[in-house]
Amino acid sequence: MADCIFCKIASKEIPSKLVYEDDYMMAFHDIEPQAPTHVVIIPKEHIGSLDDLSNEHKNLIGHIFLSIKDIAKALDLREGYRVVSNCGELGGQTVGHIHFHLLGGRQLQWPPG
Ligand code: 5GP
Ligand code: ZN
Repeated sequence: MADCIFCKIASKEIPSKLVYEDDYMMAFHDIEPQAPTHVVIIPKEHIGSLDDLSNEHKNLIGHIFLSIKDIAKALDLREGYRVVSNCGELGGQTVGHIHFHLLGGRQLQWPPG
């Protein structure tokens, strides 16, 4: 999608520090990390947010979550981690391409701010 930062990262028009990539998804270090490990995981396909998911995305989302588990292991987050998807304005979403934050490496608080 034109003018979507994460589509541009997916097409490598914008460089990123890649952690993982396959035909369907990418994981890269967040440019403004909120924890010692902060990775953003995106599908390569443009989907706006959780609100835009439908049955056709079941396999994709399943694949992404199983990969997140492996990425967490590869990044040595054995003591725990958090996966977050901000959705919409009140959810704090700032980039309109669905993504999952993988955060770890420090004690995370609950509830978040
Ligand atoms: P959101 O606020 O939508 O949940 O998350 C968007 C995230 O993308 C933010 O944590 C922000 O720091 C990150 N981000 C925005 N632009 C870029 C970029 O160009 N490169 C990288 N690596 N991360 C970005
Ligand atoms: Zn996009």
